[in-house]
Amino acid sequence: MTVTIIGGGVAGLAAACTLTECGVKVVLHEAAKAAGGRCRSYFDPMLGCRIDNGNHLLLSGNYAVMAYLARVGTLDSLTGPVRPVFPFVDVASGTHWKLRMNRGRLPWWVFSKARRVPGTRTSDYLALLKLRKAEIDDLVAPLVGGTGALYRNLLEPLAIAALNTPPDVASAAPLRAVIAETIERGGAHSIPRFPKVGLSESFIDPAIDWLMARGADVRLGSRVTDLTPGAKTILAVPAWVAAELMPSLRVPNEHQAILNLHFKCRIDPGEAGFWGLVGGVAEWVFAKGDILSVTVSAANKYAEIENDVLAAKVWADLATAFGLGAEIPAHRVVREKRATFAATPAQLRLRPPTRTADPNIMLAGDWTDTGLPATIEGAIRSGNAAAMAMLTGY
Ligand SMILES: Cc1cc2nc3c(=O)[nH]c(=O)nc-3n(C[C@H](O)[C@H](O)[C@H](O)COP(=O)(O)OP(=O)(O)OC[C@H]3O[C@@H](n4cnc5c(N)ncnc54)[C@H](O)[C@@H]3O)c2cc1C
Repeated sequence: MTVTIIGGGVAGLAAACTLTECGVKVVLHEAAKAAGGRCRSYFDPMLGCRIDNGNHLLLSGNYAVMAYLARVGTLDSLTGPVRPVFPFVDVASGTHWKLRMNRGRLPWWVFSKARRVPGTRTSDYLALLKLRKAEIDDLVAPLVGGTGALYRNLLEPLAIAALNTPPDVASAAPLRAVIAETIERGGAHSIPRFPKVGLSESFIDPAIDWLMARGADVRLGSRVTDLTPGAKTILAVPAWVAAELMPSLRVPNEHQAILNLHFKCRIDPGEAGFWGLVGGVAEWVFAKGDILSVTVSAANKYAEIENDVLAAKVWADLATAFGLGAEIPAHRVVREKRATFAATPAQLRLRPPTRTADPNIMLAGDWTDTGLPATIEGAIRSGNAAAMAMLTGY
């Protein structure tokens, strides 16, 4: 059997690796000259170094991610704190604190003032239990309260990072899935991880080398415009491309942007190498060598704001948080306009399953019905599922 895979993002690569490992001949088409899609690194001539299209934060409980990296030999390419610790800075007050979970399943960290979010009581964390029962129509902010120190300083940033959708319109169901696999299983499953060097170095280039070494036919710069009738095909393209290639498909069609601002600036990475910021525009900051890199999610609201204005706002947050000078260093603003589909109840209902009406065509991608938000973990699981469906017919 030969399987054609269209799309060389992490979903397509995961499908290709699973099929190749099972002895299936794979032909993978990637439209761009470099694979990776929304998870890629490239050289930025202005900054004079390689950058990622956006910071990607993973958790140790992302077991499909870890298995994928182990398979292609790059598990040790991730870094991060050795403990489940999340440093935060409130740019409105200048306060720094660290959320320190314990490793085990019993969350005794919520009983410790020194470990939990400042200004919160143990009983506030019962809000997390409400998420356990979340259904697709439950919206995050109304479900968990939507006010107070725990919401502002932990639940809201967590929800925005996981769902890339404003919490007042985002469904709590995919957040429930993330929490069930990480925080609820304990700190050992919630340790932050991110690539030491870059996304392509961890997820993309080694996978392509691994595939080619095993005889897979990887075709970069190969945009597929039509499906070949009868050919066994995994469509691992973005949702809107899948709908063009297969017009009968119903797919999520509303998206949220993510902004990344990369500043040429070196600071001490501290214990974790990153910080969550609240009370400003900047949301997550990663200190990677000479680059200080900032993520702003659910960013459609900034669509009309000029890059220079945004850079000034974000730099002001960094200057306050880390005591940096007022002068903005060399920087690059990267706007991923369709970073992920909007995780609203209506959009979640448009996520299709792996199998299509055509038994020869399977779907993969973070927008398929994985139960998870649009993340690398979801994308890899979707690729594995499409490969297994192709292998087994189920
Ligand atoms: C800025 C940003 C930050 C993010 N942060 C996080 C994070 O912190 N944690 C996390 O887990 N996830 C994060 N994500 C989400 C994560 O990147 C995606 O879920 C994942 O990369 C999606 O992979 P995919 O393979 O499903 O899709 P894609 O990466 O979109 O891959 C699809 C591929 O198909 C190719 N293609 C399109 N049309 C054709 C065609 N006609 N023929 C051939 N090839 C075609 C594209 O070029 C692309 O390479 C972030 C995303 C962005 C954009």
